[in-house]
Amino acid sequence: METKKFDIVIIGGGNAALCAAISAKEQDSSLSVALLESSPRKWRGGNSQHTRNLRSMHDAPTDVLTSSYSEDEFFDDVFKVTKGQTNEKYARFVISKTPQIVEWAKKNGVRFQPSMRGTLHLGRTNAFFLGGGKSLVNAYYFTAQKLGVEIFYECEAVEIIPKENQVQEVIALDKARNENFRFQAKSFVIASGGFESNLKMLEEAWGECARNFIIRGTKFNQGKMLQALKDIDAKIIGDPTQGHMVAIDARTPKYDGGIASRVDCVSLGIVVNSAGERFYDEGEDFWPKRYAIWGRLVAQQEGQIAYSITDAKVQSAYMPSLFPPIVANSIAELADKINSDKNLQMSIDEAQLTKTINEYNSKVVEGKFDHTIQDECHTQGLEVEKTHWALKIDTPPFYCYPLRPGVTFTYMGVKVNMDAQVHRADDSLFENLFAAGEIMAGNILTQGYVAGFGMSIGSVFGRLSGANAAKVALKS
Ligand SMILES: Cc1cc2nc3c(=O)[nH]c(=O)nc-3n(C[C@H](O)[C@H](O)[C@H](O)COP(=O)(O)OP(=O)(O)OC[C@H]3O[C@@H](n4cnc5c(N)ncnc54)[C@H](O)[C@@H]3O)c2cc1C
Repeated sequence: METKKFDIVIIGGGNAALCAAISAKEQDSSLSVALLESSPRKWRGGNSQHTRNLRSMHDAPTDVLTSSYSEDEFFDDVFKVTKGQTNEKYARFVISKTPQIVEWAKKNGVRFQPSMRGTLHLGRTNAFFLGGGKSLVNAYYFTAQKLGVEIFYECEAVEIIPKENQVQEVIALDKARNENFRFQAKSFVIASGGFESNLKMLEEAWGECARNFIIRGTKFNQGKMLQALKDIDAKIIGDPTQGHMVAIDARTPKYDGGIASRVDCVSLGIVVNSAGERFYDEGEDFWPKRYAIWGRLVAQQEGQIAYSITDAKVQSAYMPSLFPPIVANSIAELADKINSDKNLQMSIDEAQLTKTINEYNSKVVEGKFDHTIQDECHTQGLEVEKTHWALKIDTPPFYCYPLRPGVTFTYMGVKVNMDAQVHRADDSLFENLFAAGEIMAGNILTQGYVAGFGMSIGSVFGRLSGANAAKVALKS
C-alpha cells in the first residue's frame, strides 16, 4: 500500500473541513495540508453545498444583518430548542465567535447578500451566502488550493490507525482507482459530517420506518469515520435517533433534494396524517423555531406520510416547494386527487379529512391574522389545538403538499474538548486528533435546532481544529 505523508490530513470536504484547511495554512503557510473528499469534484462540499446562511450574533446592524442579536438571545434560542440539554460553555463559545466568522469568510472569498424575506423571518439573525452554500464551498476550495492545500477527490477515509494516545495514519480508499493509501501526518482533523446518508445506520437507529425517510443532502456522509472512531475507542456521544429532520415534499428524490423541497406552509394551514387526523399544533411558534420538529412528527405517523393543507387565502404568505401543490376546488376532490394518483403511492381517509376540516373550522376563534407576529387567531375546544395563525380552511381552491421526513443531519458524534481535540472513551485525549462540524455538533445540539447554527458550529470548530492541528504539527 502506498504511503502519502503530510503535516496535516483533513478528512471531509464540506464547510468544517475547508475552514480547518484554510486555518491550518493561516498558522503557517509552509505546512503541508491534505484534504480528503469522498465525493467526486462535481459533488464536493457535502451538506454545506446545500446551505443558505449562518446564524450570527451582532450588537448593531451590519451590511448583511438587521438590528441586533445578542449573545444571550442567541443562547436562549439554543437553550429553548434543546430543552436545556446543551453545553452552555460550548454553545456560548460558538456564539461569541460568530461575528468573526462572517468577516473571516469574506476575507476568504465568501460573499453575503441582504437577507431574504419569507416564512423563515431570518433577516435579523442569519447572514445569507450570495449564491448559497455551493458558492461558499467553491470560494473556500479556491482559497484552500491557492494556499497550497492538496485536495484528494473520491478519496474515502475508512480506517484510523492509532498508536497510544496519537493517531499515526489514516487508511483511505481511492475510489476511482479502487486502491487503498496510507495517509500519515503529524495531526488529523475529522470533519466528515454526520451519518445521515447511511440508510442502514438510520434503520438501526429508527427501525424499519427509516426506509421511508428522504435524505436532504449529500449521499457521501456514510458515517465511516464515526465507525472508525468507535473502533479506536473514541468517546461517542448523542442519541442516534436525534438530528435535524424537517418535513419535505414526499415527491423529493432520495438524496440531494436540498432546500427547494422543504414545505413551508405548515403553520398557515393544518397537517393531517393518512387517517385524515391532525396530530400537532401547527401554530405553536414561529416557523423558523418549529420547522425542525416536523420531520420527526411525520416520522411518527403511519407510513411516515402526512399532508399539509391550506386554502387560497394564504398562498402568497410562504415560499412554495419545488413541486407543484395538489390543487382542488373541494376537500373531497383534493382527497380524491391524492388517492387516485398511482405515481404518488399515497392515500388519505377522505371522510375523516372532511370531518377534521369541518370540526377545525367550527373551533377557529377569529381574530386579526398576522403571520409576522404570534397572532390571536387560534382554535378553542379541539383535542389538538392550533395556537396561532388559525384561519378557517374554507376558500377554494384548496392546496395539499404531501410530506415525508427529510433528514438533514444526525447528532450522534464524537466528544471533543474546547480545543476541538477528540476524547477517548476513558475521557483522556487523542493528542493529535481533532474534530469539527456535524461529527461533533452533538456536543452542543442534543435535540431541536435553530436555523443556521450548523454552519456556525462547523465554521467556529473548523477554524479552531485547523489552527490547533497546525500548532501540534509545528511542535512535533
Ligand atoms: C438541504 C440542507 C440545507 C441546509 N441549510 C443550512 C443552512 O442554511 N444553515 C446551516 O447552518 N446549516 C444548514 N444545513 C446543515 C449544514 O449543511 C451542516 O450543518 C453543515 O454543512 C455541516 O458541515 P460539515 O462540514 O460538518 O459537513 P458536510 O458539509 O456534510 O461535509 C462532510 C464532508 O465529508 C465528506 N466525507 C464523509 N465521509 C468521508 C470519509 N470517510 N472520507 C472522506 N470524506 C468524507 C463528505 O463527502 C462531505 O464533503 C443544511 C443541510 C441541508 C442538507
